[in-house]
Amino acid sequence: MKRAFAEHTWKEIEALPKDPGVVVLPIGAIEQHGPHLPLLTDALLAEETVRAAFARLPEGVPAWYLPVLCYGKSNEHTGYPGTIALSAATLMAVVRDIAASVAGAGFKRLLLFNAHGGNLALLQVMARDLRAEFGLLCFVTQPDHSVARSSLPAPEQHFGIHAGTVETALMLHLRPDLVHLDRAEPHYPNFKSETLSLTVPPQVGWLTRDWSPEGHFGDPTVASAEQGKTWMDSAAQKLADLIAEVAFFNVAHPGGWS
Ligand SMILES: [Zn+2]
Repeated sequence: MKRAFAEHTWKEIEALPKDPGVVVLPIGAIEQHGPHLPLLTDALLAEETVRAAFARLPEGVPAWYLPVLCYGKSNEHTGYPGTIALSAATLMAVVRDIAASVAGAGFKRLLLFNAHGGNLALLQVMARDLRAEFGLLCFVTQPDHSVARSSLPAPEQHFGIHAGTVETALMLHLRPDLVHLDRAEPHYPNFKSETLSLTVPPQVGWLTRDWSPEGHFGDPTVASAEQGKTWMDSAAQKLADLIAEVAFFNVAHPGGWS
């Protein structure tokens, strides 16, 4: 089965079976990733994880992937030259228009695969809005690096959220030519609170420059390409399993919204 949505002609798209079936939209970012990783890190990780997941997908699963949406809501990284940030309103409008086109072509399910944390809250809002507006069953997920994270020391588990060990290892696996380990140093935010978190409520709305002059959180110096391959394989298999489930997923009353 041809999996790349945009490699079809419109006649081929028209002829595809739509239900069951799911279209996957990879979403990333173009934003600073410390002194050692390139701007395209999140866009590349979104694209490559989806590609690796589809390579593992059983032939009979009706699923297709769109080209990666490279830009995201990256305003936590403003002030670092090279970051290209969409506003929340722009990102939501772009995702809505893509979803409208997917629904307009007759598809019933859309999976938003997000590799940039700053997009997540908006996409969770969008998933419900797209269900209400277009009747699309919309799913949101992120790369599942629980296997990687559980193997890391506590500071990295808590604070290695941007260009740390995991992202650096994945990039060493995928594009070692773009990784500058000679410029890498560990950096953990000096975050002191008994109650607040950087990532889950109760939390503070932070900017990267509040914590990291160099732009990263975590220890890239211990990353390896071997780890990166293992962790990519794990995340790709988990995404493949999810795609295989959501392609056939339905609510109890599918026509109830109209
Ligand atoms: Zn990243």
